[in-house]
Amino acid sequence: MYSKQQEIEARAHLIEVGRLCYERRYICGTEGNFSIRLDEDVILTTPAGSCKGRVREDELVLTNFSGKPLNGGKPSTELSMHLTCYRARPEIKAVVHAHPTVAVGFTVAGKSLAKCVLPEVVCTLGTIPTAPYATPSTPEVSSSIEEIVKERDALVLDHHGALAVGSSIWDAYYKLETLEHHAETMLVAHMLGGVQPLSSINVQKLLDICHVYGLAKPANSEALLDQLCITESDGETCQ
Ligand SMILES: [Zn+2]
Repeated sequence: MYSKQQEIEARAHLIEVGRLCYERRYICGTEGNFSIRLDEDVILTTPAGSCKGRVREDELVLTNFSGKPLNGGKPSTELSMHLTCYRARPEIKAVVHAHPTVAVGFTVAGKSLAKCVLPEVVCTLGTIPTAPYATPSTPEVSSSIEEIVKERDALVLDHHGALAVGSSIWDAYYKLETLEHHAETMLVAHMLGGVQPLSSINVQKLLDICHVYGLAKPANSEALLDQLCITESDGETCQ
């Protein structure tokens, strides 16, 4: 059971994350949705149809694990995607979903972000996979991410957006920032003539020293080198 103080703090954090996402153009208009798991059966989330850069704390919606509002309000139409994440990863406490321009642009162009190019990204996220296209706000989205989110903390949704999960709302938000920064760096590299990924030897060295930075090895680290070999050989194919 959560305390009133925890709920007050969670409301403040969600408002701040919404404002940051809006100001950094990770969302526009009424897009995006964020949630915090307060306890085993209660989620605090953003309301449907409101600008997350301007939403008020009292407009946030409490729901149960079936997505049913507990005290009125209307949660995001994409809440089921969050619930899928919480069911797949019982240890996570927050989910952030936004539509960052550069990362989504890569999926629209059919180009993969699953390349090892930045040491910090390798150590925190591993590689960034692309979930297959699914119609937004339908159960298709949950199906498209269900297996991926069991092993990854951040991913992109084809022709749609990005999703990050974390041990807190800030952990999830920073992963979203890292994902978009990775995409921006990849875009600059593409414009300058092409992406030169880190070698598999250097990726292995990074995985060996993650703990030096106080970071846990990425959940997918064992598969990372194999995947790196696949992405190196199949060019720009999303996976
Ligand atoms: Zn979306």
